[in-house]
Amino acid sequence: MQRVMVSSCLLGRPVRYAGDAEACDHPALLRWTADGRIITFCPEVAGGLPTPRPPAEIQEAAGGPRVLRGQARVVDALGADVTAAFVAGARQAALLARAHGVRVAVLKEGSPSCGSGYVYDGSFSGTRVESVGITAAALQDAGVRVFSEHTIDAAAEYLEHLDREAAGELRPADGDTDMSRRPSGNPAAPVPTTLRSHRAGCVGPHGHAGPTATRPRKESDVNDDYQDDVDIRLWSDDDLPLLERLMGDPAMTAHLGGPEAAEKIRERHGRYLHPEHSGRGRMFAIIVGPHGVAAGSVGFWAREWRGHHVWETGWSVLPEFQGRGVATRATVAVLKRARAAGTHRFIHAFPSVDNAVSNSICRKAGFILQGVVDVEYPKGALMRCNDWRLDLLDGSPQVSAS
Ligand code: SF4
Repeated sequence: MQRVMVSSCLLGRPVRYAGDAEACDHPALLRWTADGRIITFCPEVAGGLPTPRPPAEIQEAAGGPRVLRGQARVVDALGADVTAAFVAGARQAALLARAHGVRVAVLKEGSPSCGSGYVYDGSFSGTRVESVGITAAALQDAGVRVFSEHTIDAAAEYLEHLDREAAGELRPADGDTDMSRRPSGNPAAPVPTTLRSHRAGCVGPHGHAGPTATRPRKESDVNDDYQDDVDIRLWSDDDLPLLERLMGDPAMTAHLGGPEAAEKIRERHGRYLHPEHSGRGRMFAIIVGPHGVAAGSVGFWAREWRGHHVWETGWSVLPEFQGRGVATRATVAVLKRARAAGTHRFIHAFPSVDNAVSNSICRKAGFILQGVVDVEYPKGALMRCNDWRLDLLDGSPQVSAS
């Protein structure tokens, strides 16, 4: 089934710069929601901007494609350069679209990110320029056809065409020759079949996440798209939106007692920023790709285990980055940090016994299975987990192929 990416604000999420939404009640949106077709996304929030935030415009009437090429900036009404956040959000949108094979998007018209017919010229005077926003441009480069809330009928028609094509009723080229909305002129990028969304990217009952697999996955499902392009950096003030996605999403937290309230997530964010207050260790954001897009969290912290002081590790990866080798590489990176810290010899991970992916990550990162244990998580509930242990004195951690 073809998925449709839709601006979060059009679906009633209060993510616009003013802290409000622009809910659209077009019947097609309701139908796609009921069908489970919609992927909702706000690139500005994903790029790390707060809500509310000052309005921003692309400068010098440049349009989104030039921002993506590094030839123009985005500046907010207070004069701050917010280009990096807009570009990061756009890149995440394109990655998400590729991961889900999205070929249709309905984005909010006029936004410097989402506009598909016009944006504003940078003078904050209400002057429009015929161009596309930065995310719309990135999606078009990824082969997605971008529509607005004013052209949803056309989007629905195109979607129907894609469905018929997929059902074999049409040849791929029938009626699909309008390349004008794709600046690069390229058709949709090929989508690896392994990049479906899986809710299996979390482990670590004590620190920050827990097992959330919706189905056991085979190891052969795990692709390795990023290879050496995964890194970690210390958790920063700007990572609150990332944590909100990781811990505020019902699907991501299905096995963690449900999503955390905003206040709880902020408290957790504070602990991640200052781990010395809540137990020695470190929390990191996982970053991927040349633009350092935030893909998840990983960390290590001290705990007592069976009478010994040890490290525990855990990770959480956004759905669009799961199944791509990201968690394994981030885990190996954090193991090196724990080894460098030198405080404890052993580090443990406690994925749920049902979480095939996280158990596979432990094995690939060099952990040795110790046995099955019951761990209290969330508070008041026992979770059956595998106890994996790695000896940090036993060579430098690295990704194993097995
Ligand atoms: S960036 Fe797009 S989705 Fe987010 S508030 Fe603006 S128009 Fe809506």
